[in-house]
Amino acid sequence: MNETGPKIKTRFPPSPTGALHLGGARTALFNWLFARHHGGSFVFRLEDTDRQRSKDEYAGSIIAAMRWLGLDYDEGPYYQSQRFDRYRQAVDCLLDSGRAYWCHCSPQDLERQRAQAHAAGQKPRYNGACRERNLGPAPGAVARLKTSPEGTTGFADLVKGDITFANNELDDLIILRSDNSPTYHLAVVVDDIDMGITHVIRGDDHISNTPRQILIYQALGAKTPLFAHVPMILGPDKGKLSKRHGATAVIDYEEEGYLPQAILNMLARLGWSHGDQEIFSLDELINLFDLKAVGSSPSVFDHDRLLNLNHHYIQRSDPADLVPILLPFLARAGVNNPDRAILLKCLPHIMPRGRTLKELAHWAEPYLLDQPRPEAGVKEKFLTPAHKPLLQQLLEVIEANQADPEPALKRLSQETGLKPGNLLPILRAALTGRNSSPGIYQVMDILGMEKTLARIRLALAEID
Ligand code: GLU
Repeated sequence: MNETGPKIKTRFPPSPTGALHLGGARTALFNWLFARHHGGSFVFRLEDTDRQRSKDEYAGSIIAAMRWLGLDYDEGPYYQSQRFDRYRQAVDCLLDSGRAYWCHCSPQDLERQRAQAHAAGQKPRYNGACRERNLGPAPGAVARLKTSPEGTTGFADLVKGDITFANNELDDLIILRSDNSPTYHLAVVVDDIDMGITHVIRGDDHISNTPRQILIYQALGAKTPLFAHVPMILGPDKGKLSKRHGATAVIDYEEEGYLPQAILNMLARLGWSHGDQEIFSLDELINLFDLKAVGSSPSVFDHDRLLNLNHHYIQRSDPADLVPILLPFLARAGVNNPDRAILLKCLPHIMPRGRTLKELAHWAEPYLLDQPRPEAGVKEKFLTPAHKPLLQQLLEVIEANQADPEPALKRLSQETGLKPGNLLPILRAALTGRNSSPGIYQVMDILGMEKTLARIRLALAEID
């Protein structure tokens, strides 16, 4: 707990230019865990200054994904698009104090400068042409931060250690565009100052932005927060995790039937560790999370591990809790308004098989439909005219031994010389339309005797 310093405040500021991806969700989680661990607060902000690429529907889907993951926030969502006056005020303040200046260089001027730098074998960089010209605003003008080319700007990264940049590497950064919109660097710093952010935890693709932002903090006379840059998430081929590795949006996992606990557990372990422990409850994560245990090299996303984690959490769920979240998956499988009692009864038997809610719905389907829907090949393999006499016998035996059909079915197996492995698949096909299910006596128990007999009769009637 942070008892002496200021209250810890973290933030998650995605740009709503797409859905929430695993990388963003991991950043959100680390910020959330750090705030919760220290009894601090967590701010959620939508960085929608790019009006062309930002979309309300993306903002909505990011908010929904945060809610689904259970990453609640103490403040927000703030929208940068509603704070343009404040950014303009900060830019004016920098202009008035001489920390920023108007630049009238046209795109052609800048292109010429770039070409010259290139020809001289230097990095393309603004040459400071307008820095000392004391220009005023004008159509097409931008505001730039005045950066001393001397010295260095560094910070002690809480994950990566000390990082230093030479100031002559850092351009006189644009802080206000010619259309009067603030740039990302300006807006993010003004917000983090105004919102009292103490720790900026974000992806290490932002490392090179940090010295630029530190210069803005300094120019505004504000204290810089502490920075922690978390390594990227890689795909199994060690390339940056992207669509080509399969689903990367949180919502895709929700739709595939993953549980938020499994996603959070998996994300926590991408970059952070506590010994070799793999499974963490949320409370454990909050208690144990520490930036010191975040590794400085990238971690690899392993889809099978996530699937195993999901299966773990499904198996440990209370069936009653699974019922409501299974309903949409059942509806998609064509089962509407399922009989909840049957669903509750079958869940303990199918939970060992369903690794996702989608798979669980698949396993639950035969018990919830009025009639089984035979899967491809099942009828041809188990319910042909040749099977009819056996199925008839099965019906008679079960009908005559409704209270406990098991011993009678074993006797039938002996009498017919058919191994249970050959006999029971016929019964399974009639009862479920599948060639795989929980144990046949469990199936009969889930269905109840009335439905069991009705399904065998129906299968018999359908064999021509
Ligand atoms: N909007 C930025 C992004 O989505 C936030 C970067 C930051 O954390 O400062 O990458």
